[in-house]
Amino acid sequence: MARIAIGGFLHETNCFVAMRTDYDYYAMGGEFPPLARGSQVIERTKDKPFGMSGFLDEIGNSHELVPLIWGHGGAGGYITDDCFERIVGELIGKLSEAMVTVPLDAVYLELHGAMCSETYPDAEGELLRRVRACVGVTVPVVISLDYHVNLTDQMVRYCDGMAIYLTYPHIDRQHTGGRSAKILKRILEEGIPTGKAVRHIPFLLPLNFQCTLIEPTKSVIEASIAAETGNVVNLSYGAGFPPSDLAECGPTVVCHAYSQDVADKAANMLETMILSREGDFVEPLMEPDAAVMRAIELSKTAEGPVIIADTQDNPGCGGTSDTTGLLKALVRHRAKGAAMCVICDPAASDAATKIGIGGEVTLGLGGKHLVEGVSPYHGTYKVVALSNGRFTTTGKSIPGRKVDIGPVALLEINGIEIVVASKRMQAYDQDIFKHIGVEPTEKKILVLKSTCHFRADFDPISSHTLIALAPGAHIVDPRVYPYRYLRKGVRMLPKGEPFGGPE
Ligand SMILES: [Zn+2]
Repeated sequence: MARIAIGGFLHETNCFVAMRTDYDYYAMGGEFPPLARGSQVIERTKDKPFGMSGFLDEIGNSHELVPLIWGHGGAGGYITDDCFERIVGELIGKLSEAMVTVPLDAVYLELHGAMCSETYPDAEGELLRRVRACVGVTVPVVISLDYHVNLTDQMVRYCDGMAIYLTYPHIDRQHTGGRSAKILKRILEEGIPTGKAVRHIPFLLPLNFQCTLIEPTKSVIEASIAAETGNVVNLSYGAGFPPSDLAECGPTVVCHAYSQDVADKAANMLETMILSREGDFVEPLMEPDAAVMRAIELSKTAEGPVIIADTQDNPGCGGTSDTTGLLKALVRHRAKGAAMCVICDPAASDAATKIGIGGEVTLGLGGKHLVEGVSPYHGTYKVVALSNGRFTTTGKSIPGRKVDIGPVALLEINGIEIVVASKRMQAYDQDIFKHIGVEPTEKKILVLKSTCHFRADFDPISSHTLIALAPGAHIVDPRVYPYRYLRKGVRMLPKGEPFGGPE
């Protein structure tokens, strides 16, 4: 029986938004469980959709677990120094305490891999450096990571094994934790891998080019799985999170193996494959008018709705979920039979609820967050349906999640239906439409405020997918980010221009 310390500290940092992520945000919880300490780590993550949950399942009762601290902050602006030092300080403190009387045999940490704190652009690298300094070189450290990891040399240096999600949309969070547990068990039996290889891919991938359901990423993931045999402990691909500002931002390949030669060969194989398909990652990023006109054209002969991803207003990436650029384009081009979700506007859904079904409300919808280029859309809307906004998702992306997006109104203008909610929610599940009486398969065009997660549940019913860049808070094109730390020479898009350094 081994004695394994477990913990986690997760964040996906968008360095180009003004907000900061502070300690209270972790302490209080909300979308995620509040900061967990000691036995709470297990209580709050067991049988849940986290990496830690899968780790606990796979590790079972055969080892002694020493839970430290675990906190999930989702996505947002920079982690404050105070937040980083308090949580990491407590993690290291608990780790040292755990080692005082009885030695530890291993450490497992659930991390995201795209955390930037005010002081440390490579925040997880700094965290792992401190963990390593605490436990020494003989105690294996294994981590699990999000697919959007910006993997750094420092992170690889201080780890002995790692598992990265294989899916985007992410449907294998627990599975990834389980894979980490298997890697850890192997290392406990066979020893610490002696070979490590990391390859930084020389171009950035906007999130829209990262979906694992489509080529070329599908093949890259399949190749990584197939190569995890023999002396290869893990071979992984991470697609990177471009809104994080650090030198090593971008896609990476990483391998741990029982010889340096094996690690290098496996990493080179995957790297070569990615480089040879660089141009295949690119998809058109369309202006709203062009996307709507194309969707109307396609819908004339299409079997199934044409989807327009309103990707720059994806609340999962920091969007306000209330931009109106696509709505304006739909009205402008008379896209009757289109439906859109979710515009978050509590005042509008409240007004609609007061008037009741069949009534009309005249108001400025959405556009309330002073995002550049975004304004409310003024008009008279018919109230088609109302709901309390409580339902359980049944789609393939995140099934079984109990959702409460407050009072919801289905509003209609010029034959275009809009799901207007009181809270933000990414459009990753058909039930957002269905729960209020909209059958998405019967619509000609669906506008979804999502980047990629919608694909798991909507791809099976859609005929085409277009990506539109309406003004929003989540800027997709890395060429417009004011990077300060990004390495010079990395191409800003596949086959694109190299980064010349900060302005
Ligand atoms: Zn992710």
